[in-house]
Amino acid sequence: MHTLVDEVDSAFSGDIRTTPGALPARLADLVGDRTVWHMNSTATGGGVAELLHRSIRLHNHHGLRARWLVLTGEPDFFAVTKRLHHRLHGSPDPVGELGPAERNVYETTARSQAKQLLGRVAPGDLCVLHDPQTLGLAPHLADLGLRVAWRCHIGTTLHAEATQETWRFLEPYLSAPVRCGFSVAGYAPPWMERERIVVLPPSIDPSAPKNLRLDGAEVQALLSAIGLQRAPASAGSPSTPDRAVARAAHVLQEQQLPPGAPVILQVSRWDPLKDMTGVLRTFADHVAPARPDAHLVLAGPEPADIPDDPEGAAIHGSVVDTWRLLPAPVRERVHLVNLSLKDAEANARVVNALQTRADVVLQKSLKEGFGLTVTEAMWKGKAIVASAVGGIPTQIRDGHEGLLVDDPRDLRTFGKAVLRLLRDDTLRERLGTAAHSRCAERFLVGHEFRGYCSLYGELLQ
Ligand code: UDP
Repeated sequence: MHTLVDEVDSAFSGDIRTTPGALPARLADLVGDRTVWHMNSTATGGGVAELLHRSIRLHNHHGLRARWLVLTGEPDFFAVTKRLHHRLHGSPDPVGELGPAERNVYETTARSQAKQLLGRVAPGDLCVLHDPQTLGLAPHLADLGLRVAWRCHIGTTLHAEATQETWRFLEPYLSAPVRCGFSVAGYAPPWMERERIVVLPPSIDPSAPKNLRLDGAEVQALLSAIGLQRAPASAGSPSTPDRAVARAAHVLQEQQLPPGAPVILQVSRWDPLKDMTGVLRTFADHVAPARPDAHLVLAGPEPADIPDDPEGAAIHGSVVDTWRLLPAPVRERVHLVNLSLKDAEANARVVNALQTRADVVLQKSLKEGFGLTVTEAMWKGKAIVASAVGGIPTQIRDGHEGLLVDDPRDLRTFGKAVLRLLRDDTLRERLGTAAHSRCAERFLVGHEFRGYCSLYGELLQ
């Protein structure tokens, strides 16, 4: 049972190479010795944790005293917040309406978590709350004299009934934050005052283990260490498997990935909106028959490692069931990777190796707030096929930095785009190079840090 707010440290050590320059002097004066708190609901798994690991270090590197809090709650709380997540995206909610019972669960957790911050936070401190899980604390923290911002990483669907109802549910807590940040401007509720809205696209850190450049031998060693790929016979003596890396993943496969085989990859949480089953079906029905040499790797976190995502185990289970029913010649070319999140660095290195190894990266999301997996693949210069949903088209323009598919449920078009890229080395190269440049220009952690600096300036006005 989790009841205490956790305080976590960034899991990474090592250099920070993407410095955005000195902290503006005026901001340094304004912030003074106030603490900048960030709060979300998980220290591992998913894009927000990924961002915070990097961002907290960058704050401290620049002399801001930043601390990361992780809200904890009972399963009934996370069941409600997962519904808020899907509903904000616009997905219908099979459980029904959000009524007084849900509000009671939501507010009880927010109240008890806020209580635990008494004596830890000081009036005048800044606090950025991330996503709906933490928004309920906003009025309590404002009462304690904090300057509060809320950052929503979830995409919304303007006219969807589910989105609108969810904004109504969240409205009582939305007046407390001085500013509200969204990955894309159009995600804000239509009634929110324009001057309170800040656009803050997420980012990646090129000096993080997930994004450092790996050479072919390193990729080979990492993928052999987790058992996904066998070392080529010509490789000489095999490199010593890194024990932490070997423990970082569990691979479900019938045969190892042959060196040199074309690889299609999707890395995602086991979430219905990431449509891992749809990726499997796309491969089985529309790619595998035309390309008997191609392999599919689906990688996601060990479901038990993400406490705020109660659906992971069920979705993972249904992907495994679908895989077991595939005809043997296709099943043998699909590799299901579960990544342990217990060792963040080992996890990051394996994700890096998978993304670097991939020939085509897929992101077949049905909805997507931003899609950091897309950003990570862009940085690695990969050819990407992705759904034109949520924040993805803000990163990739169709035919320029990747190929976009308008209807995320259209398996045939996804399959065609993958085949086109597998056939055309020049196109893959061109899209990958353009993707890397666009990522370097817009989506690095220094860009995001500058966004935070101007947000703090606004909170302190
Ligand atoms: N990720 C990971 N291990 C996994 C699956 C995902 O480290 O098994 C990371 C992935 O590399 C990315 C983040 O989790 O950095 C997912 O962020 P994204 O914005 O794509 O999706 P979200 O999970 O936030 O909806």
